[in-house]
Amino acid sequence: FPVENIRNFSIVAHVDHGKSTLADRLLELTGTIDKTKNNKQVLDKLQVERERGITVKAQTASLFYNCEGKQYLLNLIDTPGHVDFSYEVSRSLSACQGVLLVVDANEGIQAQTVANFFLAFEAQLSVIPVINKIDLKNADPERVENQIEKVFDIPSDECIKISAKLGTNVESVLQAVIERIPPPKVHRKNPLRALVFDSTFDQYRGVIANVALFDGVVSKGDKIVSAHTQKTYEVNEVGVLNPNEQPTHKLYAGQVGYLIAGMKNVIEAQIGDTLYLHKQPVEPLPGFKSAKPMVFAGMYPVDQSEYNNLKSAIEKLTLNDSSVTVHRDSSLALGAGWRLGFLGLLHMEVFNQRLEQEYNASVILTTPTVPYKAVLSSSKLIKARRAVQKNMIFIDQNRVMLKYLFPLNEIVVDFYDSLKSLSSGYASFDYEDAGYQTAELVKMDILLNGNTVEELVTVVHKDKAHSIGKAICERLKDSLPRQLFEIAIQAAIGSKIIARETLPIFKNIFQYGGDITRKMKLLKRQAEGKKKLRKIGNVEVPKDAFIKVLKTR
Ligand code: GDP
Ligand code: MG
Repeated sequence: FPVENIRNFSIVAHVDHGKSTLADRLLELTGTIDKTKNNKQVLDKLQVERERGITVKAQTASLFYNCEGKQYLLNLIDTPGHVDFSYEVSRSLSACQGVLLVVDANEGIQAQTVANFFLAFEAQLSVIPVINKIDLKNADPERVENQIEKVFDIPSDECIKISAKLGTNVESVLQAVIERIPPPKVHRKNPLRALVFDSTFDQYRGVIANVALFDGVVSKGDKIVSAHTQKTYEVNEVGVLNPNEQPTHKLYAGQVGYLIAGMKNVIEAQIGDTLYLHKQPVEPLPGFKSAKPMVFAGMYPVDQSEYNNLKSAIEKLTLNDSSVTVHRDSSLALGAGWRLGFLGLLHMEVFNQRLEQEYNASVILTTPTVPYKAVLSSSKLIKARRAVQKNMIFIDQNRVMLKYLFPLNEIVVDFYDSLKSLSSGYASFDYEDAGYQTAELVKMDILLNGNTVEELVTVVHKDKAHSIGKAICERLKDSLPRQLFEIAIQAAIGSKIIARETLPIFKNIFQYGGDITRKMKLLKRQAEGKKKLRKIGNVEVPKDAFIKVLKTR
């Protein structure tokens, strides 16, 4: 393929504005997949994507398209819309020269529309605005056109109005891709320079790297070197994604495809790495900013004998999702495990679900926390901290964009849900890191009859300590078995008690007549529980109770 007939582009948009549906239509129009009634988000291949109806992984497909007698190769990357996965978007954009910015004709510009536009704008890509869902009864494409002109400074006559669902006017999207997005700037005569922009682990074939070729050619049998590790490999297979892997003899600069080269170890296949030919070193490509985790949670095997299996599952999955950070950790209550960093709560849930579904792992995930930086012996010169308004822009008469500075801790857990319900679903939300701010945080202890439970020590904001402490005490009361004496369950800051629950005394079950088999069952269960007890002072705490208090769900 001559380079001038190649176009590399991404589809970006707010969640649910129709990226994956538009991708379906483009695949059909170009004959990449057969046109049937059942093509629904075909690029959403993961089980978690199908169940949740959202894209979490960017996916690549190569399309062939005839236009005015010329054959074009269009490499399309469908991307996730949710803020937690914007890392996938920015990585995908590095393999592209343009984007289709899809906007729902009814909802108009939303938070991730703005965020994605700026990602594309900063990467200096051509932006083609596509107004989707014009078939909807309440669609108002003219209003959305005006919003796009006002917020992004893109002339309204550049907007393409379509219905991805019905296929209306989708052909003109392909026309625009060819006319408005430039071909990649590459040099085929130069030595190979390939960017690894994604990779997956296949049980039988090892690492499959998705590559974008900036210079040169790569063929099966070539010896290649990873700029990151300096290790040499032989290329076993190259090919294009169509959207499934289809082997070819070669990949040329300007193409996007995959490559298998016997990399077995996940450390060997870094996303952002540059590959070049043996003995023909090149300047490595810039790679990617590493993702910055915002939410941390502990992950432990349900049973310690599963530790090694879980370890290898986490390694393989983090290869495919390099935005997750992993550190070894251990807990008195839960044993050896890891502390994982995620980009948000949805990201955490999806990662957990993928571990279970794709790797058959069962894990205990602890309540997520956000990172704090502790400064020892600081003068507490700190103002009461609330959200601070930074900026306000009117998108049109009935939509406004507000910028606030928030403590991350306040937004990770349920902020998004509350915002949605307060605004009856109209508000949308995006965030970026604004660095550490000082805050009045305290260390909160949980006590059982006066003895600290190390497993449950947490850092909380001073104003929230009471309600969080109370909640933990209540959960503990519900999950601790009664014992032969009364137990005081307390939350304390230093020597000050801020919440208390009392677990009453255990009465011997034989004091009440009743069903003998039920009693036997109860005794058996107690005996089993005893095996995994930990003693805190004179109080016996089964492992189960910790899990119930620490677990998210
Ligand atoms: P994504 O999150 O941006 O990938 O959005 P999807 O492609 O998954 O679409 C979200 C929802 O919008 C799905 O229920 C689609 O069927 C629906 N949808 C997509 N395009 C259109 C359209 O042109 N018209 C209508 N009425 N619905 C659409
Ligand atoms: Mg999608």
